[in-house]
Order: sequence, then structure tokens, then C-alpha cells
Amino acid sequence: MAPASLRRAPVLLLLLLLLPGGNAAAAGTDRPGAPGEPPIPDSATGAGAEAPPAPFPERVAPAPAPTPAATRPERPALLPKEVPVGDLALQARASGAGEAAAGPLAPLHYPFDVAASEQDPWGWRFSEARGAWRLHTGVDLIAPEGTAVLAVQAGRVQRVAEISGYGLTVLIDHGGGWSSLYAHLLQASVAEGDSVGAGLPIGEVGQSGNASTPHLHLEVRQRQPQGLVAVDPTPLLPAPPAGGAIAGDLRP
Ligand SMILES: [Zn+2]
Repeated sequence: MAPASLRRAPVLLLLLLLLPGGNAAAAGTDRPGAPGEPPIPDSATGAGAEAPPAPFPERVAPAPAPTPAATRPERPALLPKEVPVGDLALQARASGAGEAAAGPLAPLHYPFDVAASEQDPWGWRFSEARGAWRLHTGVDLIAPEGTAVLAVQAGRVQRVAEISGYGLTVLIDHGGGWSSLYAHLLQASVAEGDSVGAGLPIGEVGQSGNASTPHLHLEVRQRQPQGLVAVDPTPLLPAPPAGGAIAGDLRP
């Protein structure tokens, strides 16, 4: 048994470790948000993520200087099917605030009248800039700049705005707690408050915000009792229209 004077230092060390934050490292990576913690505006937190990933797509093309695989952190093993997101409609007129999704989303309309040339799914992406994995919270549909973007379902335009990372963005409220988000637009042809029908044009594909090539970043969002989440749109999307993929720029 060591004398009390020799045991004091380890006791102080233990106290320091028990201070707030001291036990976070031991809690593992499956770390839910702190209770009562407000959602980060315009942001998403992925389960298993070291740092909250930003909501906007990283890049659709590989970054020029990839981190050597040996120095990359391991990709999170879990792929969440839904992830909390900031409520981008908060700054517009409130509608259906707090309304939880009543049921499944009705079938969606494909967001173009032609097939995308390429599709980049929901899932983990490595951010070279941050040196961390971030969850891509939507699906990227690659198409030439100027391609008409169509509402995936009827609804009311909640917001049309330039949003950090997303660029020019249209947000449509479909009722029942469901909404859809269209980012990186070249231009929007609807205004806040407009009613739109499923499959009707709302804007054009562009490259605004954080995008390395023209594409549509499509998100489907659901209001749940605990807050707003983005869900993987891929299983909800119908098959692309027949007629093959877009080739070349559609603009005159
Ligand atoms: Zn995206």
C-alpha cells in the first residue's frame, strides 16, 4: 500500500479525466447527440461520424490530391438510412412546423424528363479538405447545365435561396411532414409560396455552391417527432424515363 502522498497525483489525474469531455474518448464512435442539443443549422450529423458532416455534397468528381489510403481514417462501418438535418425552411414562412410525417411518401416523379448520365448515391464520402468521412445526404444526378429540374411530387415552394454549399436551392413542402430539396441550380423558375405539380419544372441544373460538375443534388426530408431528417432518396426514385441518358448540353 503506497503512502497517501504518493497516491494523490493519480487521484488528481482521475479527477481531470472525469471533467466534462474527459470521458468522450471512451464512449466509442457510436455517439448520439447530447440530449437537448439543438440541431446544427444547415448541417447533418451522421451516426458514427467523428465530426458532424456538412449537408452539402462534397464533390461528384474525385479530388485532385487524394489522401494516401494509409493515412485515411477508416470509413465508418454503419451507413445510416436517415440523418438529422438543419431545417432550411425556418427562415422562410413557417408551414407544417412540428408536423410529423403521417405515413410513407407517395410515389415520386423522376426529377428530369430524361435519364441522368450518372448517379452518385447516398453514402459516405471522404472529404480531402477535412480529412474525414462525411455522409452525402442525398443523391446526385449528373446532367448537363440547363437541364430542366422537375418537382418529384406536388407541393408548395417553401424556399428559394442561395445556401452555403448547396448553391441556389429550392425546397418544396409536400405536406404530411415530407419535403424535397434541389441544390446547385443554375436558376429557379418558381418563387416561395408557389404551388407546383409533380413533374413540373422548378429550375435548371447548374453548378452553384460546392459542386465540381453540373448536377442536381436531390434530398428527401421527413419531419419526425425528434426533428427533421434526410432519408436516402434512391429507393424512392422511379426508373428514369425511357430514351437513354442525356448526351451533351441541351441548351441552344
Ligand atoms: Zn449531392
